[in-house]
Amino acid sequence: MAVRSLDDLLAEGVSGRGVLVRSDLNVPLDDDDGTITDPGRIIASVPTLKALSDAGAKVVVTAHLGRPKDGPDPKYSLAPVAKALGDQLGRHVQLAGDVVGTDALARSEGLTDGDVLLLENIRFDKRETSKDDAERVALAKQLVELVGDDGAFVSDGFGVVHRKQASVYDVATLLPHYAGTLVGAEIKVLEQLTSSTDRPYAVVLGGSKVSDKLAVIESLAEKADSLVIGGGMCFTFLASQGVSVGSSLLEEGMIDTCRKLLETYGDVIHVPVDIVVADEFKADSPSEVVAADRIPEGKMGLDIGPESVKRFTALLSNARTVFWNGPMGVFEFPAFAAGTKGVAEAIIAATGKGAFSVVGGGDSAAAVRQLGLAEDGFSHISTGGGASLEYLEGKTLPGIEVLD
Ligand code: ADP
Ligand code: MG
Repeated sequence: MAVRSLDDLLAEGVSGRGVLVRSDLNVPLDDDDGTITDPGRIIASVPTLKALSDAGAKVVVTAHLGRPKDGPDPKYSLAPVAKALGDQLGRHVQLAGDVVGTDALARSEGLTDGDVLLLENIRFDKRETSKDDAERVALAKQLVELVGDDGAFVSDGFGVVHRKQASVYDVATLLPHYAGTLVGAEIKVLEQLTSSTDRPYAVVLGGSKVSDKLAVIESLAEKADSLVIGGGMCFTFLASQGVSVGSSLLEEGMIDTCRKLLETYGDVIHVPVDIVVADEFKADSPSEVVAADRIPEGKMGLDIGPESVKRFTALLSNARTVFWNGPMGVFEFPAFAAGTKGVAEAIIAATGKGAFSVVGGGDSAAAVRQLGLAEDGFSHISTGGGASLEYLEGKTLPGIEVLD
């Protein structure tokens, strides 16, 4: 793929030019006081914005926060993000009071070289996610107006490149376009996972549902040398082997599919041999370890057991490439975090021995941080869960394709 990079744009010269940047600033907020609980995506967005600002561009940033339903909603304002981004950049970040309205226009006209303006939550404008091409293009044209005739577009929101949205896709059809450093790095990593994969290739999949990840399970079972399964999704696989899973998470409708996957990829797919079960879905619920085929009636599996961690660790120990998506258990509760921690440590150990390891998935990345694991113990932690999964499934990502 021939995608122009941020370096190409900087080489062309950006001093005094308006540059529109799509960033992914969709950070989690505290339910009670609205403070940012994990600034990871803001930090990841800084290199591109800083390079443009340092080079004297008039930087206009567009991003979304949450899923506002009916237009502007103060609950989803980017105000706390503008503040945090300014702190990370080391320079003031203005926030427009609207998306492409009179305030955004006036502020963009007032920018001087190196200034950074953040537009209000792009999803306050419903045209952003419209299925109607003409509606999206109309919004994109208004975004283009904010950077003027010699403007450029930098796509750096990797978490949204699988979406055909106005600020991701349509603007790129209207302006000279470039991949930002984050998008560039993510594409490079995903290409490495799909084309020049060093073997053995081990995949670790977990998280809550099989149905969310079926396409990626199918595609990776085909490519990987081993695929270990934990998390809530392992119970549908266990059930497909005729095991009773108590009150664990189970997707009845997926049992046949899981059985077929085990039949086809029996040598590749590995399910847990023991499970930590609890009485109920609660942090302090009494728990015990049982064999995977001895889950008592009424008990709920909330983590993989120590013997499973041992086996998964053995499978990972000689891997040269590892992709991990989805926690092995309910890691948010310390009593059920050992499986996720154990497997993560095995991946870190493999990485230490030279394996190329990638973590994809919002909750998996959060688990790494929450469990106090070293982020630099992995080769790459992806900022876009859905986007990286779709890429690995072999789908084309509209926001990437449009940059070609
Ligand atoms: P990611 O965001 O990394 O792709 P998912 O969103 O698929 O991961 O799943 C993460 C969630 O799965 C976590 O909130 C975790 O608590 C939950 N989970 C993991 N194991 C279980 C389990 N055994 N039962 C219920 N939920 C689980
Ligand atoms: Mg998730």
